[in-house]
Amino acid sequence: TPHAEPDPQAGAAVKAADRAHVFHSWSAQGLIDPLAVAGAEGSYFWDYEGNRYLDFTSGLVYTNIGYQHPRVVEAIQEQAGRLTTFAPAFALDVRSEAARLIAERTPGDLDKIFFTNGGAEAVENAVRMARLHTGRAKVLSAYRSYHGATSTAINLTGDPRRWASDTASAGVVHFWAPFPYRSPFYSSTEAEECARALRHLEDTIAYEGPATVAAIVLETIPGTAGIMTPPPGYLAGVREICDRHGIVLVLDEVMAGFGRTGRWFAAEHYGVVPDLLTFAKGVNSGYVPLGGVAISAEIAATFDKRPYPGGLTYSGHPLACAAAVATIRVMEDEKVVEHAAHIGETVLGPGLRALAERHPSVGEVRGLGAFWALDLVRDRETREPLVPYNASGDAAAPMAAFGAACKRNGLWPFINMNRTHAVPACNITEAEAKEGLAALDAALTVADQHTV
Ligand code: PLP
Repeated sequence: TPHAEPDPQAGAAVKAADRAHVFHSWSAQGLIDPLAVAGAEGSYFWDYEGNRYLDFTSGLVYTNIGYQHPRVVEAIQEQAGRLTTFAPAFALDVRSEAARLIAERTPGDLDKIFFTNGGAEAVENAVRMARLHTGRAKVLSAYRSYHGATSTAINLTGDPRRWASDTASAGVVHFWAPFPYRSPFYSSTEAEECARALRHLEDTIAYEGPATVAAIVLETIPGTAGIMTPPPGYLAGVREICDRHGIVLVLDEVMAGFGRTGRWFAAEHYGVVPDLLTFAKGVNSGYVPLGGVAISAEIAATFDKRPYPGGLTYSGHPLACAAAVATIRVMEDEKVVEHAAHIGETVLGPGLRALAERHPSVGEVRGLGAFWALDLVRDRETREPLVPYNASGDAAAPMAAFGAACKRNGLWPFINMNRTHAVPACNITEAEAKEGLAALDAALTVADQHTV
């Protein structure tokens, strides 16, 4: 049942104003018809027509504690009443408290926090720090990755969105990271994939010149590109390569961090401590824009006597920091991180694998915690994707039909190319998770119609 009285007229007015004045991200403005949203709470949102949706995208994979958590809303209101804004050059109670709570949860000695307004700015600044720290210019990043839409971040990104700005990609070199299901190395086992991927990275560095490489930037578990959990030993191997060549390891946990994988940070699963860790999204469930870089003692020391040449007007904004402090306390008190691990192990993982048994369109189920991908295929034998890489229009129609079926069944799906991701709030209840699985089950029968 919807949470508000339907009011289609109000919805039409919102849509008309949106069409007139809002220029939307990643879209052909004349070809889109955004849903007018009337409200949201917990794992659900609803429109003006009386439809309620279970949000299996958690926004853009950021509402880790769901919408409108009362304690976070209250903390933002309280901070707004006390001190809405203050410039970054000053010490503030709420800013230092947020930094402390984050630093205490990041792995190893990542104890200094540089605040940004989101993930892309975190990546920009991590790269700048790495270049200044090493005195080197090149940065390596993976194909099948997403790091944000600002200049450096989009050039690091290994997906087709990068192509629009390829002319500005000075200093970025791409390599292949492991992906056993669609192996770039033609491996047949995880161990082989790991060994070959590390060898390929070594070779790439050798041919670029180890002394020219400032940083390797990797998503600990690539998110947008397909939730490819790395094979055991891969990230430890990358860490070792970085140490041997004096290269800064940047792990981008903008999506995987803050409970998403059932740990505070995904790096914990692999026992690896990066030199820089980027975060955003789940840090405050996206209630107020916030991101940042967690910095190792060694890199922080580079800027002890030498100024760090970077900053943002709203760095460590009090409202965003208040939301982070409240979010982290909620996550502790309500054991959200443990819950994400548990729901992944007991409901989402087994439930999605059961769907794969029943539906020929599901090629592979990957993930952990509240972070899952279904790789949809036309043919399970050949693993041919349900739609071609970077398809649009008619070529992407099977995925569009699948998405429409999800929505008819009350589920708002995350869709990227031939994949759908099950990335709900980390505190999704068991009943809600099962409701989502049932909706996916019904929608997958539509995808099945496009298999060979
Ligand atoms: N890095 C990763 C791993 C991401 O998933 C994203 C966004 O999805 C970003 C960076 C960019 O973050 P933002 O959109 O906040 O700039």
